Amino acid sequence: MNRVIVVVDEIYDFIEGGSLACQHSVEAVAATKQLIEQNPDTPVLFVCDHHPADHCSFAAQGGPWPPHCVAGTHGAEIHALLQPFVQEELVFYKGCDPALEQYSGFEGRNEAGQTLGDVLELLEPEEVVVVGIATEYCVRNTVEDLRRAGWKVVIAEDCLGWVDAQGHAQTLRELA
Ligand SMILES: [Zn+2]
Repeated sequence: MNRVIVVVDEIYDFIEGGSLACQHSVEAVAATKQLIEQNPDTPVLFVCDHHPADHCSFAAQGGPWPPHCVAGTHGAEIHALLQPFVQEELVFYKGCDPALEQYSGFEGRNEAGQTLGDVLELLEPEEVVVVGIATEYCVRNTVEDLRRAGWKVVIAEDCLGWVDAQGHAQTLRELA
């Protein structure tokens, strides 16, 4: 089957040791690597939270989160285990506008300015496999936008990380 894998926010600030470290994040990265290796001809699209230092979602600007995924810092980088699978044109950045919060990766843009949605139209997958961090926020919003746009979505649950175990379980029930 013609599939793509969308990896949401498997970047250092959301992984153990990062400023917004999520639960099951180390396991999610390892499981994602395995999933990609098991599907060698499947395009892998990476969504990356990528903020300016004064982003509106940070506490200093009245937002709910500590500073995270600031462009140019280690915290904004894709985990090293996944780096071998990164192709620059398939990396989509979101949250780049200081005044705009973007949980969904669907409107994220690559360096050429194409959105993830644009690139899916070109690839025409029968199924979009979504993995990443965190279930309740960026995974959820990305999945909802993908479905709204008409794509068939499968969530690889062992490749997810979450803020809160109950919120994770609740989100999976709602998305099902
Ligand atoms: Zn963010």
